[in-house]
Amino acid sequence: MTALHDLSVAFLAAELRAKKVSATELAQHFLARSQADTSGAFLSLNPEATLAQAKEADFQLAAGTAGPLAGVPMAHKDIFVTTDFPTTAGSKMLEGYRSPFDATVVRKLGVQPGGAGMVNVGKLNCDEFAMGSSNENSAYKSVTNPWDTSRVPGGSSGGSSAAVAARLVPAATGTDTGGSIRQPASFCGITGIKPTYGRASRYGMIAYASSLDQAGPMARTAEDCALMLSAMCGPDLDRDSTSLDVPAENFARDLNAPLDGLRIGVPKEFFGEGLAAGVRAAVDASLKEYEKLGAKLIPISLPRTELSIPVYYIIAPAEASSNLSRFDGVKFGHRTKDYTDLVSMYKRSRAEGFGEEVKRRIMTGAYVLSHGYYDAYYLQAQKIRRMISDDFQQAFQVCDVIAGPVAPTVAWKLGEKADDPVANYLADIFTLPASLAGLPGMSVPAGFGEEGMPVGLQLIGNYFKEAQLLNAAHRLQQATDFHLRQPGGTK
Ligand code: GLN
Repeated sequence: MTALHDLSVAFLAAELRAKKVSATELAQHFLARSQADTSGAFLSLNPEATLAQAKEADFQLAAGTAGPLAGVPMAHKDIFVTTDFPTTAGSKMLEGYRSPFDATVVRKLGVQPGGAGMVNVGKLNCDEFAMGSSNENSAYKSVTNPWDTSRVPGGSSGGSSAAVAARLVPAATGTDTGGSIRQPASFCGITGIKPTYGRASRYGMIAYASSLDQAGPMARTAEDCALMLSAMCGPDLDRDSTSLDVPAENFARDLNAPLDGLRIGVPKEFFGEGLAAGVRAAVDASLKEYEKLGAKLIPISLPRTELSIPVYYIIAPAEASSNLSRFDGVKFGHRTKDYTDLVSMYKRSRAEGFGEEVKRRIMTGAYVLSHGYYDAYYLQAQKIRRMISDDFQQAFQVCDVIAGPVAPTVAWKLGEKADDPVANYLADIFTLPASLAGLPGMSVPAGFGEEGMPVGLQLIGNYFKEAQLLNAAHRLQQATDFHLRQPGGTK
């Protein structure tokens, strides 16, 4: 018999509805796995809260009032605020912080009335304030990649990707500002999607770079991602000023549509010199698979791909420096014990509470926004951001979906880039363009590259084309079995 932790969200939801398993049994099973975990994926567990949510889901299932995913366990990236668990954003600044409310995404997925009914197993590790690509910037601990524990799981949603790959939970939430759902999904061999900017509410998602931050699901299959994303999205106009007034959709509706005639754009800039041979081979093989499924490959160009790195690393820090000014030791967050006056209290609280990478970004951000540099850096970056969006619209004149690698390499070794921030930034080259344009993007397991490590295929769609992306990913998963392979098993 298949173990409970090998089952998908879709399958578990059906089993729960058929009363073949209870939410409480599942919660106990996944709690036990999560409690025994040594990868560093979790920052907090609260078995009482998890079991109380499971009890509520069982009650709703019995009463016939349950949401579509009632009783299925999951876990949240520790950047979504939750009342039942502490929320730290991976930072000492928020150590012990307890939110008085749940983030919209948490509420929509959870057991509250009107929610999808999922049960939260705990809070997952991440880079501090979601700044990073390896999870090594967490102020608490690093996370190891379940495929090779000497390697990083990717970041910033590294706890989420490691937990799903190791089957500690069937699914998790992540957030993606410049690739933090897609890149860790790629590094850990799972599936993840970032929707169109504004689809999922940012209310209660601790802000990093507000014009880029988006929430999304991470799971093993595209179908599971579709089910969760359907629950997560929808307008939240009173609470998030950038929430789009676009109704929630059933993103699973087109999952079995044939791909005949689908035009897949392949940007030449995504296949340049820095791309590892093993990654290229896996990506090429999945593109061939798409041709077999009836899709047509169209060569395209996204000429400003390289510029997305400096543009992103100006805009994101600029927004971060402004967003993080709220952590001043007064309203909430860490307050130093050692101060003489208000200004020294601010300074010491921030010096003690923030980690090195966060400080680096605050300083960069303040610099590019300062008088005399604003025009040269920030404004210039905004102009190029617009051009990057325009390049995508040009490309979508001739193709429906864009495909390429998620990252230039497979997961690197822990510590390998820890002292070299620029090396981390450069590795984001293929995920940043879609982020800057606000487009939906996903990572789908596409095979294995260097050292047998997982490789993700990135699919980018035009605005609001999530259902089309998920369909393309689902069809690939029906033709391949990479998403079913397990760390420690045969590759
Ligand atoms: N690696 C990128 C950064 O450090 C993206 C992070 C993210 O998407 N949250 O900013």
